[in-house]
Amino acid sequence: MLKVRFAPSPTGPLHIGGARSALFNYLLARRENGVFIVRSEDTDLERSSRESEHNILEALRWLKIEWNEGIEVGGDNGPYRQTERLDLYREYTKKLIESGHAYSCYCSEEELEEERQALIAKGETPRYLGKCRHLTEEQKAKYEAEGRKPVIRFRVPEGQKIVIHDHVRGEVVFDSDGIGDYVIVKSDGIPTYNYAVVIDDTTMKITHVIRGEEHLSNTPRQILIYEALDLKVPEFAHISLILNTEGRKMSKRDGDTAVIDYQAKGYLPEAVVNFIALMGWAPPGEEEFFTLDELEKIFSLDRVSKSPAVFDLNKLNYINAHYIKQSPPERLADLALPYLQEMGVMPQGDLSEQDRTWLLHFVQAIVNHLSYMAQVKDYVHYFYGSEAPAPEGEALEILHGEQVPMVLDLFKSKLQAMDSLTVEGTKTLLKQITKELKLGGKLVYMPIRIALTGQMHGPELYDIIPLLGKENVIKRLEAIG
Ligand code: GLU
Repeated sequence: MLKVRFAPSPTGPLHIGGARSALFNYLLARRENGVFIVRSEDTDLERSSRESEHNILEALRWLKIEWNEGIEVGGDNGPYRQTERLDLYREYTKKLIESGHAYSCYCSEEELEEERQALIAKGETPRYLGKCRHLTEEQKAKYEAEGRKPVIRFRVPEGQKIVIHDHVRGEVVFDSDGIGDYVIVKSDGIPTYNYAVVIDDTTMKITHVIRGEEHLSNTPRQILIYEALDLKVPEFAHISLILNTEGRKMSKRDGDTAVIDYQAKGYLPEAVVNFIALMGWAPPGEEEFFTLDELEKIFSLDRVSKSPAVFDLNKLNYINAHYIKQSPPERLADLALPYLQEMGVMPQGDLSEQDRTWLLHFVQAIVNHLSYMAQVKDYVHYFYGSEAPAPEGEALEILHGEQVPMVLDLFKSKLQAMDSLTVEGTKTLLKQITKELKLGGKLVYMPIRIALTGQMHGPELYDIIPLLGKENVIKRLEAIG
């Protein structure tokens, strides 16, 4: 049975790249009726936190990427945090030492740095040259007596080709000679990533390791440990880096990289999932909109591209706009509410029937203008409050037009005569004005629009007028004199 995993280090929020690794693993597990595990690689004690772990899991849940086994879900192969698995790693370390595949190294930081600099000076790749490979018991005892605490290093075999048949990158060959004996357990007894990950993957019976390309150079180090322990090596798929539209590795400087940033801006989880799926994976056919359910049926590793993926915010906005348009007004109202509360446009707590109706109408009036929900804030001024931004330039000129006072006066008096303002009522009212004054539509609508909003373009007048309400419309008309 196919078993895959997502193993984030809880040292910060879930980034887009991490979310993509999680998604690809999840999709493959779904497609193959396999198992998807989420576990925590928390051996960096200084940088890891439970808070980050929680945030990562929440971000996955928000995207509806659910796991069958692992943290907070449980399973037969737990615990699912590396810091809770130290006894297990110790058992394997013992085996590796007994079989001669690992040894204690007492070299100090200074000694290692000296070795490094000497290799660099000779133009060689800095690596550990094996000074402690053959320490006698006496030498070890002497170091111990000096109070040195050893690390455990893996003894890298010489002259070995390590071949990876990667599902994305094809055959990749590494030479063991460039690697140097690497640390698998630090002096505080905490295993390093390259070691713990092997023990986790093997004990959790992971069949496919799907992760970012940045880990490709770690893979030979991991394969050597599998081989030393006589364990089955899983299959690998290293998915490409994510670049920005300029072709540089995506970083914080390019804007938001954390999933939660997009959640906060009012991107919809199904849009983010759809967008992420298309970063490095090509769907069969022309269609570009996919729900998670659809992706589960069609995702495959052989359509994952070797070339770097590109993070294109315009594309995300385009996809998100599509899902916004498809969402029921009730959902959009719920999503818009926090932004409006923040602005004081909507009260905190339960909404009155009237506020709810206003809110539903508001989101429907602007739905076609939105790329993400936080943009509702940019539209509030059209629909809310007694003041409009002052017209400028061409808009101001139009407002000084000859027939404008007549249009606005008639509009005002007709408005005052109305009990309630509806979309239909407003449409009728505007039509009556054009008829009575025998003016073309534009000569009526444009001055009213500018008088009410300060602008020549924007959402429909028949939405603006009822949402503003009679009182605000009149105040705005009076403000322009
Ligand atoms: N903890 C690693 C990371 O967050 C995961 C590496 C792996 O999947 O093996 O990048």
